[in-house]
Amino acid sequence: MLRPDRVVRTTCPYCGVGCTLDLHIHDDTIYEVQAPWDGVANRGLLCVKGRYGLDFIDHPHRITRPLVRKQPQRAGARTPAQSLDDWVEVSWDEALDLVAERLVRIYREHGPRALAAYGSAKATNEDNYLLQKMFRALFQTHSVDHCARLCHASTVAALQAAIGSAAMSNTALEVLETEVALVAGSNTTENHPVIGAFIKRAVAERGVKLIVVDPRRIELADYATLWLPLKPGTNVPLFSAIAHVIIREGWYNADFVREHTVGFEEFARAMEKFTPEFAEQVTGVPAADIIEAARLYAQADRAMLFWGMGMTQFAHGTASVLSIVHLALLTGHVGRVGTGLNPLRGQNNVQGASDMGVLSSVYPGYMKVSDPASAAHWERVWNLPPGTLPTEPGLTVTEILKAAGPEGVRGLYVMGENPLMSEPNLAEAEEHLRQVDFLVVQDLFLNETGVYADVFLPAASFAEKDGTFTNTDRRVQRVRQALSPRGQARPDWAILADLARRIEAKLGLDYTAGWDYRHPAEIWDEVAAAVPAYRGISYDRIEKVGLQWPVPSPDHPGTPFLYANGFPSGKGRFFPLDFPEAPEPASRQYPFTMTTGRLLEHWHGGTMTRHSDLDALYPMPIVEVHPVDAAALGIADGDPVRVSSRRGSVVVRARVTEKATPGVVFLPFHFAEAAANLLTLDVVDPQAKIPHYKATPVRLDPAPEAALVNPVWMPRGRR
Ligand code: SF4
Repeated sequence: MLRPDRVVRTTCPYCGVGCTLDLHIHDDTIYEVQAPWDGVANRGLLCVKGRYGLDFIDHPHRITRPLVRKQPQRAGARTPAQSLDDWVEVSWDEALDLVAERLVRIYREHGPRALAAYGSAKATNEDNYLLQKMFRALFQTHSVDHCARLCHASTVAALQAAIGSAAMSNTALEVLETEVALVAGSNTTENHPVIGAFIKRAVAERGVKLIVVDPRRIELADYATLWLPLKPGTNVPLFSAIAHVIIREGWYNADFVREHTVGFEEFARAMEKFTPEFAEQVTGVPAADIIEAARLYAQADRAMLFWGMGMTQFAHGTASVLSIVHLALLTGHVGRVGTGLNPLRGQNNVQGASDMGVLSSVYPGYMKVSDPASAAHWERVWNLPPGTLPTEPGLTVTEILKAAGPEGVRGLYVMGENPLMSEPNLAEAEEHLRQVDFLVVQDLFLNETGVYADVFLPAASFAEKDGTFTNTDRRVQRVRQALSPRGQARPDWAILADLARRIEAKLGLDYTAGWDYRHPAEIWDEVAAAVPAYRGISYDRIEKVGLQWPVPSPDHPGTPFLYANGFPSGKGRFFPLDFPEAPEPASRQYPFTMTTGRLLEHWHGGTMTRHSDLDALYPMPIVEVHPVDAAALGIADGDPVRVSSRRGSVVVRARVTEKATPGVVFLPFHFAEAAANLLTLDVVDPQAKIPHYKATPVRLDPAPEAALVNPVWMPRGRR
């Protein structure tokens, strides 16, 4: 039996659960991953991604030396590099000098708003902190954003408006201590599998009542007391009808509403029209089930709300999230163990990247960029002359590419993101990317975005560097170097610090914002000194177990649940909602509604999982179709099908399954050969700027085998 040279404890790089991993290392290679019983977020559990999905680190397609294009790109004529022959390997000095020179030239000739950056929900807190520091402190632009914009921006907007804070309020494992769990728009057993396992355990072993709100018959529906299969995009009428019943039946907590909320009277009047019978017509959920859901949730002593992207990814995403937040404000199911408002954050460090200020409207710690006091604070922290930092917010992820061109964004820095898989309406996004003058991509692989880059900077993987991730329940946990960086790859923080020093030199500044970090712990200490919520967190304190912010002092134990003493905004606010219009209604030509999402075996744009053995477990894109719809279309399980929207089409095999509901089809978004986002709509929520990913009118037509880009078929039963 192979014995490990050493065992290194770290944190999973995939989802927001933040599972603790013990990496067994032999000969500088991970040969086994174990889940320690004292891993506080996973207690000995791992899903297939954490246990078997880390071999992307040594995939032969990984890029491990800096690359520069042989032919410089011309604006408006950008073409993808078709092979490595289109690039030349260069030294780090050459690559970073070129990046510094081009970014500084764009800044000098066109000003701060000509530059923008994508941070990464996969990178560490320290990496993300340095990226936003570099663009803000050196280029005076707040156009630094990341994919939180695409998953939970509407959660942030709604929670900020309703209670003044946007993070998950409680700890996911408190589901074992609740009475009722309501899970909305979250396929938890595939997207947050370990939390999904604890929800199943809560039902099976603790008698917790589970209410599942989802258009698909996801696995959790089999464990649910109630499954409410609403039509995609009808969250507002459904949750407003639940609120209507709670108010009508007098099941709300009048003392809590009086003492801790404002706006109830106007809200109650707005809810009058959302009768269960009206909601049944528009959502498809029986009125009796809506009433029963209201009774179960409101009459419990402790009840938890969990939600995912099925609540957030709509052009009315903020209203959608407000509609579920109202239930907690009505019943007072907050501020105690086993209660709360719990948005399940998707990526491993999407909470942390947001906390670090990789959002165009806030600095680290959610200090508003529009507030001059915030600017003054960060000018002191970064040793900048007073007045350096602007108070005008920057561009969001969904605005950056649209602004590309001679009058807008000319220089774009993409760290660990793949917008040409994640943006809606991809064909148009690709056209926008072609307008960028100078594109830098910092990643592990030349993904769909990387092939358009002028300079590619090879980053170290999570297992080749130190740092911290913050999981979905606000726990800051250590990431530890277990392997030597492959080839010449470097940690993102080290690349950024080196680049920032070169930019400062080229700008000829007579001060420095400070970039001489020897270890990411020094970066963390800078954050902790500047942001009150992290003041008590140090690498020493999280050596064994992470801490949940806020941790205001070195002797504070961390905060497993929030709002025990009220909301940050003082009182929770109700919002009188109306029934939102669909931005693109179904029609005779496009009669089905397409939802998109993840599969257990894959992760987002597939940059990691499709370079792992996991790809062999689920090697092909599919579209899930209900048997009734399949029969009407003359489609059998495994047949090629063309799925078309008003923007494009893809050909995939049909998976005929009762997991789909009639009229609703599901397309996973991991597969470049059938990219779901070629079909999605780029209309965004006006407040949160999150796209309308979850309800796209489409049509389905039988297609010939020859039209399949990926003809692999995995017969039923393998999964
Ligand atoms: Fe990693 Fe999430 Fe799976 Fe845990 S549940 S092993 S964090 S992907």
